[in-house]
Amino acid sequence: MKKKGFILCVCQGTCPSFTKMDIFGVLSDVRREKIFDYVCLHPQLCVSDGEEFLKVLLSGGETEKLYVAACDPQMQCKMFRDAFDAIGFDKAMHIPLDIRNKTTEEAVAAIKGMVANNP
Ligand code: SF4
Repeated sequence: MKKKGFILCVCQGTCPSFTKMDIFGVLSDVRREKIFDYVCLHPQLCVSDGEEFLKVLLSGGETEKLYVAACDPQMQCKMFRDAFDAIGFDKAMHIPLDIRNKTTEEAVAAIKGMVANNP
């Protein structure tokens, strides 16, 4: 069965936009809800090794949908486009969410809302 994957990207954890949330608390809560087949944390997806991470992660073709909680959705689409194109991942299957400036509870609620709107 094709899988739903979730990546939390947090600007190295030092950006003020991510200081209100407990990063590992968000991941733990999301795991407990069992709404994704896998979850992971990346410190900086929009640099070259982040792009490499996306290519390695998706190249096996097992991920059907990739949910990314990070920065501005339009920016995400632009920044990850080359990596998706390089391995033939359908860009429409990338579901981006902006979780900057949210508390742990707000971030978890936003992530659940994202999945409810894009099951
Ligand atoms: S993808 Fe967005 S959230 Fe992640 S490091 Fe880059 S700017 Fe920050």
